[in-house]
Amino acid sequence: MNLHEYQGKELLSSMGVAIQRGYVATTVGEAESAYQRLKEETNTEYCVVKAQIHAGGRGKGGGVKLAKNEADLRTYAGNILGMMLKTPQTPGSMEGPGKLVKKVLIAEDCYAPDFDANKEFYVSILMDRETRRNVIIYSTEGGMDIEAVAEKTPHLVHKEYIDPLAGIQAFQCRKIAFNLGLSGKAYAEMVKFIAQLYKAFVSSDASLFEINPCLKTGDDRIIAVDSKVSIDDNALYRHADLEAMRDTDEEDPTEVEAKEFDLNYVKLDGNVGCMVNGAGLAMATMDIIKLSGGEPANFLDVGGTADAERVEQAFRIILKDPNVKAILINIFGGIVRCDRVAQGVVDAYKNMGNINVPIIVRLQGTNADIAKKLIDDSGLKVKSAILLKEAAQLVTEALA
Ligand code: GDP
Ligand code: MN
Repeated sequence: MNLHEYQGKELLSSMGVAIQRGYVATTVGEAESAYQRLKEETNTEYCVVKAQIHAGGRGKGGGVKLAKNEADLRTYAGNILGMMLKTPQTPGSMEGPGKLVKKVLIAEDCYAPDFDANKEFYVSILMDRETRRNVIIYSTEGGMDIEAVAEKTPHLVHKEYIDPLAGIQAFQCRKIAFNLGLSGKAYAEMVKFIAQLYKAFVSSDASLFEINPCLKTGDDRIIAVDSKVSIDDNALYRHADLEAMRDTDEEDPTEVEAKEFDLNYVKLDGNVGCMVNGAGLAMATMDIIKLSGGEPANFLDVGGTADAERVEQAFRIILKDPNVKAILINIFGGIVRCDRVAQGVVDAYKNMGNINVPIIVRLQGTNADIAKKLIDDSGLKVKSAILLKEAAQLVTEALA
């Protein structure tokens, strides 16, 4: 689950990580009160107005503006709230439709007026599957596109792996601060920043923290100016406060609906919808679809109980995608009997009545033969197969 920048900063701040102070607003009126509040707390006229959407690169799309006074603030808040913001990371990139901005963060400007007195770093933490450790990735080249930095100047991107049992060590924090070229107060602040950031990462069961930029201010403080935070969905049950931050407006609506039905659904870009029981089989099915010349339109694991009701829910979810040209149902009947699934498919198909894409069903396992007969005799436009190869062949024919 991804958090908005302002939510990520709330989390960081509650764990003792220094952040750029700010308040979220949904209207220009709220933005003005946020501005007044900031002015009292920080006695500065300047502030930044930052669009809150689940995508980075907002600066490039006009979603981050520096306001020098209250009039600026009103203008920028008015412009950004309600805009369709296009960034290199919104769907379809800068050519896509953009994302509707419903909230802005009004944040204190913590950059020194003499811009050279500031220094923007890149700091992120994530899980490295290869070493099975958390890794802190950091660079002196912050503020900009880190992928480009990694490609053109890989020696400027550093990695520090953390032993899961020992946890982060003081020497590692010092090494990072040193490699970032810091000394004196800024060095000490960075050591503290990294230690707190890592602690926050572990205790919130996060899968990603990305702080870009992490700023060294003119007076040598280190603060998080931006935050991208993802929390491991499987750990949300022990973070009710974080789960409450979920913004379903930012998620794929079909995925949100699938979650309500307890279906593991991930939308993809292809043309063959798939309905499978078991994640591993679903992955294999996607491979088969590709091998037979199609592209999977989704990943969908219906789980252990593929009864008529679940099959129907799954059909509805798959068919919401207008790109779907065929559906491949691939079920292994172990605990669930194939004939029950087949009956479920037939019932769901009849119930829905308006399915006009070819459906290929491959059932293997307990009572597979009875299941095949059930489908073949149903008189519906559903083709059945027992071997995966046959099913793949039928998908190819359906797409031709
Ligand atoms: P992103 O474009 O979505 O990654 O949004 P960021 O929060 O990283 O902001 C983009 C850029 O705006 C940063 O790299 C900074 O250069 C600039 N910026 C952000 N906050 C401030 C601020 O308080 N003052 C000034 N002067 N610039 C800022
Ligand atoms: Mn950023």
